[in-house]
Amino acid sequence: MRYVPTMSRQLEVEVGPTCISSGYCRNFAPEVFGNGPERKSFVKSNPVTETPALIEAFESCPVEAISAVDAETKEEVFP
Ligand code: SF4
Repeated sequence: MRYVPTMSRQLEVEVGPTCISSGYCRNFAPEVFGNGPERKSFVKSNPVTETPALIEAFESCPVEAISAVDAETKEEVFP
């Protein structure tokens, strides 16, 4: 099922070890994702406000390295 953002939640976002530093997430949401050491992206700070650009960033990842949970309920939001 395609992910439908609510635009009202705060999310806790994580970049996993499979990141290959493609840079897509940083292009879509540069305020959220930074370019870290060892060719891995990282999340600049959590929680993060859910926005269309953030969802584009999630969906752009070619190796499905990005995950997110609802900051309040801890429910899995993405993938
Ligand atoms: S889109 Fe995925 S692989 Fe590319 S930099 Fe972001 S987390 Fe890493």
